[in-house]
Amino acid sequence: MDILVVDASPLYRDILQQNLSRHRGIQLHLATSLAEARSLANRRYFHFFVLSGQMPDGEGISLARQLRSGSATAMQPIILLTGSPSAEMAEQAVKAGVTELFRKQDVAELIAFMRHYLEVNQPLRCRVLYVEDAREQREPMLAQLLEWGMTVDAVDSADAAWPLFLAHEYDLVLCDVVLGGRMSGSRLINRIRRLPLPRGATPILAVTAFDNPARRVELFHLGIDDYVQKPIPPAELRARLYNLLSRQRAVQRSQQLLEATALGVLVFDEDGVIESGDDNVRQMLGVSAGQAWGQVRDWLPEQINGQSMFDAILLGQHMVRQPVTLRRADGSYLSALLTLLELEASRGLRQFAVLLRDVSQERAITDRLLAAKQAAERAGRMKSDFLANMSHEIRTPLNAIIGMAHLMKRAELPADQAGRLDRIDMAGKLLLNLVDDILDLSRIESGQLLLESVPVSVGSLVANVVSMLSPRAADKGLLLQQEGDAAGVPHVLLGDPTRLTQAMVNYVGNAIKFTAQGHVILRLRVDAEDGGEVLLRFEVEDSGIGIAEEDQQRIFDLFQQADNSTTRRFGGSGLGLAITRRLVNLMGGETGVISQPGLGSTFWFTARLQTTERRAFDHAQTDKLAGEAAFRARFAGTTVLLVEDDEISREVAQCLLADFGLQVDVAVDGVQAVEKALAMPYAAILMDMQMPRLDGVEATRRIRATAVGQAIPIIAMTANAFIEDREKCMAAGMNDFVAKPINPEVLIVCLQRWLSQGESS
Ligand code: ADP
Repeated sequence: MDILVVDASPLYRDILQQNLSRHRGIQLHLATSLAEARSLANRRYFHFFVLSGQMPDGEGISLARQLRSGSATAMQPIILLTGSPSAEMAEQAVKAGVTELFRKQDVAELIAFMRHYLEVNQPLRCRVLYVEDAREQREPMLAQLLEWGMTVDAVDSADAAWPLFLAHEYDLVLCDVVLGGRMSGSRLINRIRRLPLPRGATPILAVTAFDNPARRVELFHLGIDDYVQKPIPPAELRARLYNLLSRQRAVQRSQQLLEATALGVLVFDEDGVIESGDDNVRQMLGVSAGQAWGQVRDWLPEQINGQSMFDAILLGQHMVRQPVTLRRADGSYLSALLTLLELEASRGLRQFAVLLRDVSQERAITDRLLAAKQAAERAGRMKSDFLANMSHEIRTPLNAIIGMAHLMKRAELPADQAGRLDRIDMAGKLLLNLVDDILDLSRIESGQLLLESVPVSVGSLVANVVSMLSPRAADKGLLLQQEGDAAGVPHVLLGDPTRLTQAMVNYVGNAIKFTAQGHVILRLRVDAEDGGEVLLRFEVEDSGIGIAEEDQQRIFDLFQQADNSTTRRFGGSGLGLAITRRLVNLMGGETGVISQPGLGSTFWFTARLQTTERRAFDHAQTDKLAGEAAFRARFAGTTVLLVEDDEISREVAQCLLADFGLQVDVAVDGVQAVEKALAMPYAAILMDMQMPRLDGVEATRRIRATAVGQAIPIIAMTANAFIEDREKCMAAGMNDFVAKPINPEVLIVCLQRWLSQGESS
């Protein structure tokens, strides 16, 4: 392509050259005067002119006028470069045949314009069906179309054109309307337009010999996209072809994009007649290419979101989206996501499109995941149920072992037997700890461990831990003490006293276990306080064996001990720290250790507790046991009812209670318990939970339902050690809760609490 630039200097030409260099086959020629331009234009053909408005030998506009008057330059674009064009100037320019005016400085604008023009003049690569019966017209036109780069099937009748059209995919049909042969051009056009999309929308350019308005209207009604009149000026035809093709290309592009999204598209009218379905939807629903679609209700559900599809759209929703299950042609089912929208109305009927996305695979994966999740949850529940049951079953005999050992130790025994009894007692307690740990762990892991949130006095919890473990420390000659004052720690916070105590006991217990001499110190302080929350920090320092750097993280994992060898000196399961870490995490805190082998360790944990106005029920303060002897002196002869179905457990509890100086009556199940409770005013009832005939919860309800049974303290004794169990007891109207195996110290504290209430009232 040759472009003539008429300018006094080569500068402008060079700029254009640079910017258009990526377009192939472009030649820029320069004329530095009007005279030179004229002589060049006479000698060769130029496709494009860029004229400077001011030249040394005259005005560019006069050259434009001259060029247009010559036949060889009638059609090509002529650009005029001016300073700042006025309206008057623009008018003159149009009259002179100038295509566009550009200011010289708007180079980018000019280049964009030229590029577009260059594109327009690229070869028209497409496949065209050309129908023309007059041979003398057909042949030169065919040559012209081929020259423009088209692939052309040229035929002389509509009868010959129709089968070709069906057999191939054409980008465009160029068709004479008045044709010899059986089928007229109009009929051919009409047939094409009745085909399903996208073929039915192939652009058609009609060629007519005589032009009048009525004829034109008729052709457009028939569905042509454009028309040209004979004799056809080639430049005009090319421009019209280019337009049609570029529009067609745009449609094709969106169609390709749609295909690439794997969306199926179904178009139908308001009578429910399907007008078209693309390849994707055919594939989805298993409808072969030749098969007719029929009615929309054969394929889609009649109701969407509880209303008919049309109603939904009529109600003004622009778009309705819904997951659906569809039936394929072969009767199988498909999960899809359906989107319904209204298209531009055409041909007098409202038109709708449904977009379908096949979500069968996603659905199948989701279903599988869901099933796997449910199975895992079921397994988890079974595991924790199993563990809970096992724990209950193990606790009952342990209750007997520990209880009996305790009772026997009270008798005067020869030293060797007393020693063996101690071993039985210790082994029983170890086993009990293990059962508790494993149970805790399984509940934490399955997310079933619920934390209590009750008013607690953390200061007294710390004091309790110290007094509880002091004897153990003293046995080893260690000094166990609380250091620093807990001032600053709000007196009452909301938290779980059992779990806080458990975490501290674990640390202090370990410290005592791993320290041969020296001290164990328990510290408490407030680490941060904001709004209604405090972050507490607990520290346990010991002067024990310490832990090597590389073991410090590992020991918080399950079943990990610093010394995993079989010859290790200290017993234990390696569960304590792992449980503590998990419990502390549940309380919004963290755990850690600072240690040096041989010098000792400081284990710490934090916990986030809420502040509260409520008063803590301070067991530690009120429950200071005056001592077993004092208890005996105070409550001797008081009668309590023991309800327990298991013979050994009964015997253990009975002996314990008798040891405390109490008078004990027994009932072997709930029914008997209710009878006895109503027959005589007991100072307290100790109630087992699981019993034949009538369980503890139900028996309590019945006792509470009577007038005499309202005030009796009822204390649950159970091997079900969870908070929920405790809550069940409380909900039934029980006053307190003692876990089995019964710890005599806990039992006596509990009894003291409730018996003294009875005394004072
Ligand atoms: P267990 O004490 O039952 O083995 P833990 O989880 O409570 O289980 O402790 C894991 C390991 O961490 C212990 O076996 C011990 O090696 C180490 N450890 C814990 N506390 C201390 C401590 N105060 N001093 C030294 N080592 C400790």
